[in-house]
Amino acid sequence: MHNYEIGEYFALLAKLMDIHGENEFKTKSYSNAAFTLDKLTEPVSDMSPSQLYAIRGIGEAIGKKIEEIIATKSLSILDAYLQKTPPGILEMLKIKGLGPKKIVTIWKELEIESIGELLYACEENRLIKYKGFGEKTQKNIQESLEFYLHHQGNYLYEQVENLALTLQQNLNETFPNHQHIISGHFKRQMEWLGFLDVVTTLPATNLTNWLTDKMFKIEKKEEYFSCKGEDNFEIRWHLTNPDTFFWKDFTLSCDPAFLSAWELLPNFKLHPFQSEAAIFEQVGVHFIPAAQREQPKIIQNASKKTLPAAINPTDIKGIIHSHSTWSDGIHTIEQMALAAKQKGYEYLIISDHSKSAFYANGLQADRILAQHKEIDALNKKLAPFVIFKSIESDILNDGSLDYPEEVLASFDIVIASVHSNLKMTEEKAMMRLLNAISNPYTSILGHPTGRLLLSRKGYPVDHEAIIESCAEHNVVIELNAHPRRLDMDWRYIQAAVENDVLISINPDAHAIAGFDDCKYGVLVAQKAGLTKASNLSSFSLSEMMEFIEFQQAKRG
Ligand SMILES: [Zn+2]
Ligand SMILES: [Zn+2]
Repeated sequence: MHNYEIGEYFALLAKLMDIHGENEFKTKSYSNAAFTLDKLTEPVSDMSPSQLYAIRGIGEAIGKKIEEIIATKSLSILDAYLQKTPPGILEMLKIKGLGPKKIVTIWKELEIESIGELLYACEENRLIKYKGFGEKTQKNIQESLEFYLHHQGNYLYEQVENLALTLQQNLNETFPNHQHIISGHFKRQMEWLGFLDVVTTLPATNLTNWLTDKMFKIEKKEEYFSCKGEDNFEIRWHLTNPDTFFWKDFTLSCDPAFLSAWELLPNFKLHPFQSEAAIFEQVGVHFIPAAQREQPKIIQNASKKTLPAAINPTDIKGIIHSHSTWSDGIHTIEQMALAAKQKGYEYLIISDHSKSAFYANGLQADRILAQHKEIDALNKKLAPFVIFKSIESDILNDGSLDYPEEVLASFDIVIASVHSNLKMTEEKAMMRLLNAISNPYTSILGHPTGRLLLSRKGYPVDHEAIIESCAEHNVVIELNAHPRRLDMDWRYIQAAVENDVLISINPDAHAIAGFDDCKYGVLVAQKAGLTKASNLSSFSLSEMMEFIEFQQAKRG
């Protein structure tokens, strides 16, 4: 065993002890030991105990621990600290710029326990409110995190979107006489993916030459060529010919259960298909977009009639759920409103954080009054564009909202969201959510599970019970369109629509650029076949005014 390998045990031990707030004196002796081992030229594994114990900065106590490491390849005191440290906190130690002190603040004060949550907090500007985190530090941490996550193998749809579109364009331009399509999970508009599938009619030699030129490492697998670029993201190349191209693309762009059901259709017979449409014509089924090739039951629906048109990005008529400089946003209400107006939206619903969200500069009652004055003045200036008064009210531990009724009554719309104590049982989560939904001031339930894709699972909930309760109390369920949230999960949208519950695709924008996230919400909503009629943010201004009147009547 090399000295530096042994040293790493002590370095990690010292860091963990720091994180757990142990006596600095004890911690220091271990970090010193790591330092000494690193500098020592003679291997300690060759030394006798007396030689080892005599080294300055080692001594008998640490010497015995070194013997334990050499004999067992582990250190019991370190194992004990590892046991009581969440895996996400350990992972943070791998991030450049994050030492034990900062990690303690992140863990204990921001209550963040994973890399993904931490990145999201950077995007929301939450770190800068804490001691030791300036704007520059936050930016550096964000960059290190993005770098780290980029190498983890799985990517959000939004992170690979550009790569996929550029690749498609490059292939079309370089090899115009061949067919190519980005298929698989990307074509299905999945919320995240581990690799990209490309179907092409390009011969193997042309493809491998082209990829080698571009410095890709290529590996031949049984069914495809796998290649990885510098960023380590995998692209799988499925080689076909014009007769097999469309069928290959079809098999990759549907859920396995959907595909099995398809192959059992009475008229199905595998033969060369010359287009995607031909695959549908053969079995007499109306076209089903790749995004909707999920549950087999949609095949029955599409065999009877054309599927209703799913929502499109241009069907979003207003921005619902948007933060401003009044809480943790980057832009003022006026800047946000002007940008929304310019992008062709008819209204903007400003929902800053409520008072319990102290980390996000949540609004106390007196600041709400001042904000409403500002909105009134802007509305005079920007008509016919309308800014509605709203709040993203924290759902407190007992499920109550964050303000007394007279304050809640001053908002056009109340979005109720859980932001604190996310670690809870389903029973506790449901108690909080159902209480909030039944509150007559709640119009929209915000990001219902609190999940962050690829980084935080979200608290456990009973979706059916939430939908039922929202139906009973006329509460809309948000589809938070931030590409890292996409919460509620699209898999429950149909059930909500069948129960006459409206969905609202909301960007939860913390800056003007955030408006564009609506698209990611739309892409997953398409998977569920959501129509614009069932989406609140597709309401025109006059429909929105009616909706607000109806919500206010609920308050009694
Ligand atoms: Zn929120
Ligand atoms: Zn928000």
